[in-house]
Amino acid sequence: MLYRLRAMGLSAVVLEAGGGVGGTWYWNRYPGARCDSESYYYSYSFSEELQNEWTWSERFAGSSEILSYLNYVTDKFSLRDGIVFETRVAGAEFDRDANTWKVRTTGGAAYSAQFLITAVGCLSSANVPHIDGIEKFAGDLCHTASWPREVSFRGKRVGVIGTGSTGIQAIPLLARTAGHLTVFQRTANYSIPARNRPLAAEESDAIKADYPAIRALQRSTTNGHPYKIRDQSALAVSEAERRSVYEQAWSTGTLRFRAAYRDLLSDRAANETASDFLRSKIRQVVKDPETAEALVPKDHGFATKRPPIDTNYFETYNRPNVTLVDLKRSPITEITEHGLRTTSSEHELDAIVFATGFDAMTGPLLNMDIRTAGGASLRDRWREGPKSFLGLQVAGFPNMFTMTGPGSPSVLVNMPTAIEQHVDWISDCLSFMRARAYEVVEASEEAEAKWADAVREAADRTLLPSAASSWYLGANIPGKPRVFMPYAGGFAAYARICDDVSAREYEGFRFR
Ligand code: NAP
Repeated sequence: MLYRLRAMGLSAVVLEAGGGVGGTWYWNRYPGARCDSESYYYSYSFSEELQNEWTWSERFAGSSEILSYLNYVTDKFSLRDGIVFETRVAGAEFDRDANTWKVRTTGGAAYSAQFLITAVGCLSSANVPHIDGIEKFAGDLCHTASWPREVSFRGKRVGVIGTGSTGIQAIPLLARTAGHLTVFQRTANYSIPARNRPLAAEESDAIKADYPAIRALQRSTTNGHPYKIRDQSALAVSEAERRSVYEQAWSTGTLRFRAAYRDLLSDRAANETASDFLRSKIRQVVKDPETAEALVPKDHGFATKRPPIDTNYFETYNRPNVTLVDLKRSPITEITEHGLRTTSSEHELDAIVFATGFDAMTGPLLNMDIRTAGGASLRDRWREGPKSFLGLQVAGFPNMFTMTGPGSPSVLVNMPTAIEQHVDWISDCLSFMRARAYEVVEASEEAEAKWADAVREAADRTLLPSAASSWYLGANIPGKPRVFMPYAGGFAAYARICDDVSAREYEGFRFR
C-alpha cells in the first residue's frame, strides 16, 4: 500500500507495532512456521521485476526466508523510511470539521491523516485463553504468535495447547528436541501433507517464465490459487475412482486437496467422502489405535475449519517422547506451579506453548479504539458482529479503509492475492476522489446492510458455517458473537463485484 500511495504522489506513514517488517512472519517465529501456499504463488505480483529476480529455495518457504523476502521488498522499493517501527496504535478518531483522522499511539505520539487505512492482518491478535492458575506457573510460557527470540526446549518437558495449523506445524519440530512433548488437543483436526521440498533452478525458471498465466489464473479462481477446482461432483463417480483421485491429491499434498471435487465444501455427503478418506489416513499412520482414534476428527467435515498442511504431524504421535491428551475427555482445570491439571491427571511441565490461535479478523481492529466523529466506537458498532461494505469500509467511519477486513474473502484466499486486490481497489478509489476533488468517502448504511446479507448468503451456500468450533465464526473466543466473518463467495466473484462498484462510480459509497 505504501508503495502505491507513494507512486501516486501521496505522502503516507506506516505505523508498525513490530521492530521490523513482516507482520505475521515477524511475530510467528515458532519452529515449523512456513507458508501454506506454494512460495511462488504466495509472493507479490505487483512488480514484474521483483517476481523475476527473487528465487525461492523451497516449495513452501519457511518464516525466516519469507522475512528475508519482505525485507528485500522493503529495501528494493525504498519503503523503510516510511515506516515507524515499535509504534502501536492505541486509538483513532475522525474529526468531521477537519475531515481528518487523529491517531494516538500507546507511546503517546499523535498523527493526523486524511485517510486511515488499516492493514493490521486477520490473525494478529493472539488468543491466550484464561486458565485458572496461569500466573502460578514457574516454567516458560509462550504463545506461538509472540515467539521468544532466544528459547530452547531441548530436553525439557513441554506441553502444547492447540492443534490448529500452528500447533500442527510446530509439534513435529518441538518433539524432535523436547525431552517429552505432551499435546493437549481440544478439537481433532484434519491435515494434508505439505510435501515440501527444495526447488530446483529449472523449476523456478519455468514458474517465472509462466508468471503471466499463473497470475491470471490466481485472479480467476475461488481461493486465489493457480489451479482450478475439478468441475465434477464427488458423488458422480464410483468409490474406486474417488479413492484414486483422493490418493493422487494426498500424494500431491497441499490445500489443493480441497479442489479434488467441486462440491466438497457445499454438499455434506460429498464432503463426508473426503473426510472419511482423511480419517482413514490418520488411522493408517498412527500406530496406537487409541491415540489414532482421539486424533480422528468426528465433529466437523474436512475444510469446514481452515485446513492445515503439515510435515510429519500424525507420524509424530508414533514417537516414544510424545503423548496426546484428549481434552474432550478430560478438560483442563488449572495451571499449577509445576504443570497443568486436567480432570483426570496432572502433567508436570517445564514449558507450556499456547498454539491457541487468534481473535480473528475483528480482534486486531477492535484492539484499537477506533471512533467516529462524535465518539461512537467501532466496538459498539460491531457488538453483534462485524458489518462492512465489501469488507473495505464501515458505515459511519468515513475515510477509513479496512484492508482484508471482515466481509472480504481475505482468510479464505491466498493472502497476497487478497491484499493486492484491496491495494489496487483502494488506490483507484483515492485517484477517483482526487480527480473530482472529493475529500470524504463513506459507505452508506444501505450498501452495508445489503452486503451483510450477501456475506451471510454466500456462507450459507457452503458448509463453512457448520463447524461449530471455527474461528471463521468467532467460536474460539468466549463471548464473541457467532457471525461468519469472511466473504465465502470466492475471490474471482468478489473482485468482479468490487470492479462493478467502482465502474458504477463507487455505487454504495457517498462522497463529499
Ligand atoms: P486455530 O486454528 O484457532 O487453532 C487453535 C487451537 O487451539 C485449536 O486446536 C483450539 O481448539 C485450541 N484452543 C484454543 N483455545 C483453547 C483452550 N482454551 N483450551 C484448549 N485448546 C484451545 O489457531 P492457529 O493454529 O494459530 O491457526 C489460525 C490460522 O492461522 C489458521 O487457520 C491459518 O489461517 C493461519 N495459519 C497459517 C499458517 C500457514 O501455514 N500459512 C500457519 C499457522 C496458522 P478448538 O479447535 O477446539 O477451538
